[in-house]
Amino acid sequence: MTFLDRLAAICGPDHVLTGADTDRWSRDWTGMYSGRPLAVVRPADTAQVAALLSLAHDTGTPVVPVSGLTGLTGGAHAPGQLMLSLDRLNRIRRIDPAGRIAVVEAGVVIARIHEAAAEHGLIFPLFFGARGSAMIGGALSTNAGGSNVLRHGNTRDLCLGLEVVLADGRVMDLMSELHKDNSGLNLRQLVIGAEGQLGVITAAVLKLKPMPRAYATALLAVPALRDALALLNRLQEETGGAVEAFEYMPRNYVDGYLQEVPGARPPFADAHDHVILVEIGATAPRDATPLPDGTIPVVAQLEQALAAMMEAGAVLDALVAQSETQRRQMWAMREAAADIHRHWLPQVESDVCLPLDRVADFIDLTLPRIRAYDPDATELTVAHLGDGNIHHVVMPGRDDPALSDRIRETVEDVVQELGGSFSAEHGIGKEKLATMRRRKDPVALEVMRAIKAALDPKGILNPGKVIPAADGQG
Ligand SMILES: Cc1cc2nc3c(=O)[nH]c(=O)nc-3n(C[C@H](O)[C@H](O)[C@H](O)COP(=O)(O)OP(=O)(O)OC[C@H]3O[C@@H](n4cnc5c(N)ncnc54)[C@H](O)[C@@H]3O)c2cc1C
Repeated sequence: MTFLDRLAAICGPDHVLTGADTDRWSRDWTGMYSGRPLAVVRPADTAQVAALLSLAHDTGTPVVPVSGLTGLTGGAHAPGQLMLSLDRLNRIRRIDPAGRIAVVEAGVVIARIHEAAAEHGLIFPLFFGARGSAMIGGALSTNAGGSNVLRHGNTRDLCLGLEVVLADGRVMDLMSELHKDNSGLNLRQLVIGAEGQLGVITAAVLKLKPMPRAYATALLAVPALRDALALLNRLQEETGGAVEAFEYMPRNYVDGYLQEVPGARPPFADAHDHVILVEIGATAPRDATPLPDGTIPVVAQLEQALAAMMEAGAVLDALVAQSETQRRQMWAMREAAADIHRHWLPQVESDVCLPLDRVADFIDLTLPRIRAYDPDATELTVAHLGDGNIHHVVMPGRDDPALSDRIRETVEDVVQELGGSFSAEHGIGKEKLATMRRRKDPVALEVMRAIKAALDPKGILNPGKVIPAADGQG
């Protein structure tokens, strides 16, 4: 029996793909990571995942777990390797509206969880542009963030339980529905964000939240980025912490959107340097039920707050969405981010996190430092400002790998000086392996290697990613 025959014996010959049948898995969303895998195997359930990993472990075969392939750091890149796709583990096992949980398999696309929750008047509050393709196993493995982290936290904050198949095929059952469970080391949180290094996630218990009955959404212009934090804090106080999203788009981002997206229209009559998208969610009927004159209290509250801030000069201009269509148009502008810059090549893309009061410092410091040696460099920024997460793209003046490396190191320097992190929400994958080596605390790296060696002694799970080798060879 060949190795492929043995794979087929586990999950059926139709679910072991090779050659052109693997096209869909041969290129990721970014287009930067391509290459045909040895094979793509598509198990139907946890037992098959376990049998596949047991076989891979016995034969010492590297395995790359893959979900929606929308990750932005090459984490699922697997040229010539065996890809284990979770896409057939796509059952929503249970929605429990009273307990506010969803029990799902790893291959369920996030948008499907949204739809299933909505049928019960609930939300699964993980929202980002790729939600129509990304799967929950992938989002858990990268600890994805998105636009609502400010109110609901990252994916790890939305997960109560996990089922994980370990490298040798053992199934670790952590499918707790509990909000408190201090029974030893928190292995669930260890696996979340591990990008497939410690095991393959096959199922999860997720938290659901009440669906806002109304949203107040606005685009507003502020005189300076530094003014935005005071604005956010004020809105949080006035709404009792109901700000769902607080997103930043500078002028060149808005210009890029207007250029790239057919039919896009400028949000304001005048162009502004600093535009914020703010959204407040109201779950209480008193805030969400329209008054006799049609006014929605939460919208009126936002309008009043913005009027007061305009009076005080803290806001220059504001546009409050008057309909769901207008709200969606505002979000479309923000969620076009990845599309706006992905064709701008060459580029040095960073996904960094700063303390909230240092975001403006990062913006002020970075480009001038780069321009000292690359005067033609330009940058494009967009940010989940409410949680200090900046997506920062530099277009170098020329296509020169050494220059791109230097720019990357400059960005890392500024981030480090300001007490930030070089990876906010996209993870490490392949792209940031070198950065991990030079910037992560060396003791933390040793601990990561020890954990990896304990759980995956043969190093078969997603090799060459996330944790740099001690010998500098990967
Ligand atoms: C347009 C766009 C917008 C985005 N916006 C955001 C954003 O706002 N915030 C944000 O955080 N991210 C964003 N992302 C990236 C985001 O990280 C991914 O979309 C998502 O989290 C990964 O899910 P996936 O199913 O595509 O996983 P994949 O890309 O298939 O895999 C990602 C990583 O997880 C591993 N993996 C996958 N499934 C499993 C599993 N079941 N068990 C173990 N390991 C596994 C893979 O090996 C790989 O290392 C965006 C991406 C795009 C394309």
